[in-house]
Formats: sequence, structure tokens, C-alpha cells
Amino acid sequence: HDSLTKLPNRILLDEQISAGISLSRESNKSLAVMFVDLDDFKKINDLHGHSIGDSLLETLGQEFNKVLKGNDSVARFGGDEFIFCFPELSDSHDARKKVKIIQEVFEQEFIIKGKSINSSCSIGVAMFPEDASIAEELISKADIVLYKSKSAQKGRYLFFNEGINKQVKRDFLIESELRLALANNELSVFYQPQISVETGEIFGVEALLRWKNKILGQVAPDEFIQLAEDIGLITDIGNFVIERALKDIKQFNVSNNYDLQLSINISPKQLMEPNFVEHTIDIIKTIAFETNLVTLEVTENVLISDLTKVAPVLNQLRNNGLKLSLDDFGTGYSSLSYLGNLPMNEIKIDRSFIDKLLVNSQSESLVKTIIAIGQFYDLSVVAEGVETKEQYDRLALYHCDLIQGYYFDRPMPLLALKERYQISS
Ligand code: C2E
Ligand code: CA
Ligand code: CA
Repeated sequence: HDSLTKLPNRILLDEQISAGISLSRESNKSLAVMFVDLDDFKKINDLHGHSIGDSLLETLGQEFNKVLKGNDSVARFGGDEFIFCFPELSDSHDARKKVKIIQEVFEQEFIIKGKSINSSCSIGVAMFPEDASIAEELISKADIVLYKSKSAQKGRYLFFNEGINKQVKRDFLIESELRLALANNELSVFYQPQISVETGEIFGVEALLRWKNKILGQVAPDEFIQLAEDIGLITDIGNFVIERALKDIKQFNVSNNYDLQLSINISPKQLMEPNFVEHTIDIIKTIAFETNLVTLEVTENVLISDLTKVAPVLNQLRNNGLKLSLDDFGTGYSSLSYLGNLPMNEIKIDRSFIDKLLVNSQSESLVKTIIAIGQFYDLSVVAEGVETKEQYDRLALYHCDLIQGYYFDRPMPLLALKERYQISS
């Protein structure tokens, strides 16, 4: 038994599940293994101290014991993780009732050493015989869905299914392969032209990261940028993009005798690295790129997180001659006060608004208004995700400055960009 909660430990748990499986098999019934993980247990420890944390686990152990019936069992798996085993259930509907019972334990307020503590949990469920017929596999499958349930939203439960299994395996594979992607030369940068409405000519490009992996194939940035942030790879990957893009567009500009602008996406974590500004300026100097041709795109989300920390970094970048663009404008907690107070040069109207531009007059007014706001603050306005001539015409009518989207070009490698936009002067 576990010494703190007096609940069965892992070894005993295994035996109980195995016995439960035999029992359920004989009676032609189902069994559910439920992996329960407390949400934000670390916060409770940090806030109230470890002895309160320990007492909470102890109390929960007692409460869990109270809700058991017949051959049900519960064990402490480790840390703030518990595993329930419910044998002889009729079906998954029965299992759902058991989930409810566990969740109800968390509805009460726990008074621990005079402090009132609220807690919640996430639950992953795997069933015999559908999902597995040995204890170890049921636990591991319940663990897999628990992980997914937690990453989706805390305080929820999920039942195992093959789709989730595949997704989780893919997530793990993406994570392990991403760690090697840079070293294996799997990353590259594509460029998507931005066309000036006024001149009809190419004004700049946005650098977009591409990852091609031998096992996973092409992986979209939306699938791995967040992960790269979470596992601490974004700075290295981000620096790779900056360096590659500067070198490529330098080459384009030299061979075409042109001043193509370059926009680079910067993720919040990368921006807030202690030496981000210095480092970026360094690379620009080393490559002898014109600083005033570089725009860094940041999303609104970076601004909400901590304006007092972000604003000085943005000011430093501006003082060094770089330009700043507010990406995905309109999707975050847009506050007009940002635009007045922050050193922005550009806003990019999010693709979702362009999608709806011609669908109803409300969306149209919205886009019109965003463009007017940009003009009011003296910002250049870019529309991204422009796919049709009709959208282009409408945006031109409202004096949007730059257009980016499949209507003109998809993102492409440097070679294709050079072929398509050979500038004759
Ligand atoms: P984003 O910054 O909003 O980039 C625009 C996305 O819209 C790109 O997706 C682009 O390929 C796509 N797109 C452009 N025109 C059209 C169009 O007409 N129709 C449609 N349906 N889509 C269009 P992509 O390349 O998959 O990038 C997704 C997101 O990943 C980017 O969104 C950006 O947030 C992030 N990302 C890409 N590269 C980098 C990078 O180097 N660093 C960081 N931190 N994030 C990056
Ligand atoms: Ca962008
Ligand atoms: Ca965007």
C-alpha cells in the first residue's frame, strides 16, 4: 500500500485489474480502468505548501474509498495520479455513471488544515474488452486518453478510441522528430509575395517555415510551432528562419537590383528571449541586409500577455530600424489602445475576415472599418488569404495597401520566387 493515502500501490493495482478482468469475462461483462489526474496540483503545492498538498491527496484517498462498491478498487499510481478499476459493468453507459461519481467527489470544497481548497481532475478511460484485455495495456491506454483530455481542456474526461490513439502517437512522433529536424536539415523557408495595390507590383514576401520529415511527410507549421514553443525549440528554429530568409531575400535583391521587403513571423517566446533584439540585429548586420526592409510579425496575443515587458522590446526593435506588423488582426482581444501606444507599422487583417468579406455586408463593413483604422493610425494594411479577383477588387476599392494570398501566389521556395519575379529594370 501507498504510505500516504493507504490506498493500494501499483503492484496491487495490477493484481486487482487482472482479477477484475477474469471476473468480468466470466460474467460476460465490461470493465473500466479510469486514470484520474488532478488539475493544477502543482499550483496547490506552490500556493499552500507541500504538507497541504499531501493532506489533500490523503483526503481524496479517503473520499475515493467511500464511493467504491462491490469489487471496485482505487489505487494511487504516483504523484497526483489515481487509478480506478470498475469491473462487471454492463456497458460504457455504466462507465459514464462511474465517471460522474468520481467527478462528484471534486464538487465539494476541501477544508485542509483550516484552508479551503478547490480541486478538479481530468479522467482518461479504457475499457475491457473493447480496448485491451490485459491490465498493463488498459492502464497505458487510459493514460493516453488522459493526456489528450488534459491537453484539450482540464476538468474533462475522455474514453479511449483508435482515432485518439493515432493522434497521440503522431503527437509523440512529431515531438521526437522535431528535436532532430534542424540537425537533419529538414526545415526550409518558403516565401509568399505581397502585392502592392497601388503599383500592382511585388512589394515584399512573408517567410513561412516548412518541415518535411522522412516518416511524417510534410508537417504544417500550425501543427508544430506551438509544440516547438512548449519544448523549448522555438528560439533555435526561429533563428534558423531569420537567417535563412535574410540570406535568400538578400540574394533575390542583389540579383534583381530590387528592394524586396521581408516579413518574418516571430513567436512570443522567441520575442521575449533576453537577447532577441541584439541577436537579430547581429544576424542582419552579418548578412548585410537593409534593416529597413525587415518587418517582424507578432500576433495580438503577445501583447496581452505582458504589455509592460513586450513594449520595451518592440521599441528597441523600432529604434534599430526594423518594422513591426500586427498579425492576425481582429482575432485576439483587439484593443485599439495598442495601436496608439505601440510602435506598429502595419496590421494584417486575418484571413477569416477576408473569407467572409463577400458573404455578408456586416463582414464587409468590418473589413472596411479595419482598413480605416489602419489609415487613421498611419499603418500600412495587409489583407492575407485573398483567393479571388472579387475579394481583391473589393479590397482595392477600400484602399487596402498590400494583398497576399493564393489569388496571386502560394508560398514558394526561393528558386520559384526568382523565376516568377525576375525584375527587369
Ligand atoms: P500566418 O502568419 O497567418 O501565415 C499565413 C498562413 O496563411 C500561411 O500558412 C499561408 O500559407 C496561408 N495562406 C496564405 N494565403 C492563403 C490563401 O489565399 N488561402 C489560404 N487558405 N491560406 C493562405 P502556413 O504557412 O501553414 O503557416 C501557418 C502559421 O504558422 C502562420 O500563420 C504562422 O502563424 C505560423 N508560422 C509559419 N512560419 C512561421 C515561422 O517561421 N515562425 C513562427 N513563429 N511561426 C510561423
Ligand atoms: Ca504571419
Ligand atoms: Ca495571419
